[in-house]
Amino acid sequence: MGLLSEGSPLSWKETKKWADTVRNQGILQFINLYHKLKNRQNDVLKWGDEVEYMIIKFDHDRKIAQVSLRASDVLDYMHQKEKENPSEVRSLWHPEFGAYMVEATPSKPYGGLTSHFNIVEANMQARREEIKEALVAGESLMCLTSFPRLGCEDFTDPPTKPNPHKGALCSLFFPDEAVYGNHPRFKTLARNIRERRGKKVIINIPIYKDANTRSPFVEDLTSLGDDGQGAKAALPDHIYMDAMGFGMGCCCLQVTFQACNIRESRVLYDQLAPICPIMMALSAASPVQRGYLSERDCRWDIVSASVDDRTNQELGFEPLVDDRFRINKSRYDTIDSYLSPEGEKFNDLDVVYDRDVYQQLRDAGIDHLLAQHVAHLFIRDPISLFSEKLHLNNEEDTDHFENIQSTNWQSMRFKPPPPNSSIGWRVEFRPMEVQLTEFENAAFVVFVVLLTRVILSYQLNFLIPVSKVDENHKEAQKKDAVRGSTFWFRRDVMTCDSPPEAACMKCKASDQSEYMKMTINEIINGKDSGFPGLVPLIKKFLSSVDVDVDTQCTIQQYLGLMQRRASGELMTTARWIREYIHNHPMYRQDSVVSQQINYDLLNTADKIQTGDLLCPELLGSFQSKTKDDIPNAIQKAENCYDHVNSGGQLEDCYSHLNCVEGES
Ligand code: ADP
Ligand code: MG
Ligand code: MG
Ligand code: MG
Repeated sequence: MGLLSEGSPLSWKETKKWADTVRNQGILQFINLYHKLKNRQNDVLKWGDEVEYMIIKFDHDRKIAQVSLRASDVLDYMHQKEKENPSEVRSLWHPEFGAYMVEATPSKPYGGLTSHFNIVEANMQARREEIKEALVAGESLMCLTSFPRLGCEDFTDPPTKPNPHKGALCSLFFPDEAVYGNHPRFKTLARNIRERRGKKVIINIPIYKDANTRSPFVEDLTSLGDDGQGAKAALPDHIYMDAMGFGMGCCCLQVTFQACNIRESRVLYDQLAPICPIMMALSAASPVQRGYLSERDCRWDIVSASVDDRTNQELGFEPLVDDRFRINKSRYDTIDSYLSPEGEKFNDLDVVYDRDVYQQLRDAGIDHLLAQHVAHLFIRDPISLFSEKLHLNNEEDTDHFENIQSTNWQSMRFKPPPPNSSIGWRVEFRPMEVQLTEFENAAFVVFVVLLTRVILSYQLNFLIPVSKVDENHKEAQKKDAVRGSTFWFRRDVMTCDSPPEAACMKCKASDQSEYMKMTINEIINGKDSGFPGLVPLIKKFLSSVDVDVDTQCTIQQYLGLMQRRASGELMTTARWIREYIHNHPMYRQDSVVSQQINYDLLNTADKIQTGDLLCPELLGSFQSKTKDDIPNAIQKAENCYDHVNSGGQLEDCYSHLNCVEGES
């Protein structure tokens, strides 16, 4: 979840007092950083995934599955091992919001070799092997975007009780004990968000109305200790949730790429923004919330509402007196503006930004688009602050900048290099939901990385108005959007700069408007008359690149999965979960996912993940090689790393956009 500073958290009142200082210093830090690094050139492609997991506790006798609140023990164990045997470390383990969550990344980023696509899955698989010894009997590490019965009675192991009157969350459903406790950051964030907005967060997701679902669907919350606040906030026919844990307690799949320079990172940030809703819909995996089937397949709006710290004034419910801006979006939301010059004409949203910060950035020689982006991030208050981190050296430190940056959770993140490091300008792709198996997670990650290579090599243009991307982002979360929805997409993605081998895939449609509505199938697989499709473009690109046979075979499987998910031939995870519930003998067509259904669902999902159960409707006949041959796959991974470390070079055609121009 971004920066994790150690130390003693300040109260919200104290934090608020320091807000201007943090912003003023944070901007100076960004300006210094920018001028130091704006001309940084020739960084090579590096990239890495982040996978988030839940530790699930199965009680096979009682037939229940719960979240196990042992993440801090598990992480302590993993970190100890890391310390003892640093040379054996293949993955890094990080805390996340939930006391039942962990995040893992590869220990080193992958590089520009095409063979690295062949080791992602093995690395993910190795993580599971590594963490096994830290788990206790009955526990399983699962990639679940949302735990179906999060916030229901008896959902944690050990048992806990929410306290609506005291603590960080004050939730009717979600106990403070289910928030990661070893580091104060997470509880502080939750408390400060609640205190800043002056009330608990309000999350309402439309319930899926089945034949026997109560209508209107209204819950009596008094028995949970509601003082009337909940009843007022809960909308009829919606699943009501009241705590940060419902959003930040979800898992996701992210990818970060290093660009050769700042210009390329701005291009990738922009070009991938319209891809966000498409990949979110394809990766949809969270149709159940707080024990009820919902009308949505994705977590996004839940997370967004779960950290929405806007006050009534900022929301426009009251006149602006103490606060500074009317703000259209939560801190966790889609991007508001493109960053590259090509994107400028598509910036059709009214971007809220701090005019003084903007002017300061402009006076420091920063161009309009970047200044607007940073000044937009800086409309927010710092939402957690540690007493040890108040006084910094603005020439060397960037903590205040990072404080604001890392609590602006947007669909794409533009990541400047950390000070005094070998790391270059990066972008992070953040919309995807996590999949059950390593095979699927690797497929999604590899697909996105390959797409970046095609975008750069063929100089593709996916830009459409940002407002249309936002429309898509809403659409993408709807039930079965892959099959039922259409999305704004650019009609002709080729540019004047596309090389001839790509230009042959130019759109042949006669209608000249720049963008149109397409299905995910058309976007991924192409249309007979016109749009080439993202997978055919990737395949075309791959045919011009040197890829060893084994890697080629792996990539074909990943692309095949994408194609068949997009066509609806294979199910999304969300659809699979829905069908499983509908077909469960104990499901009463009332939208309720009971303890027993939840247990059976997760038990089945766990078996699919381990490979003990085949699931052709989800995975087709695709086979993960690494299942049988983990040691070999890991060895291969090591060899690849060694190759990079001993100066192995990037394959030329597979590298970057012309790495010549600096930032003007
Ligand atoms: P955050 O949580 O802030 O998004 P993490 O450190 O959890 O960041 O994950 C960052 C990802 O970026 C990891 O997969 C890591 O391997 C990868 N990574 C590390 N260094 C680089 C780099 N120089 N370029 C691109 N990716 C990198
Ligand atoms: Mg994370
Ligand atoms: Mg991370
Ligand atoms: Mg991340």
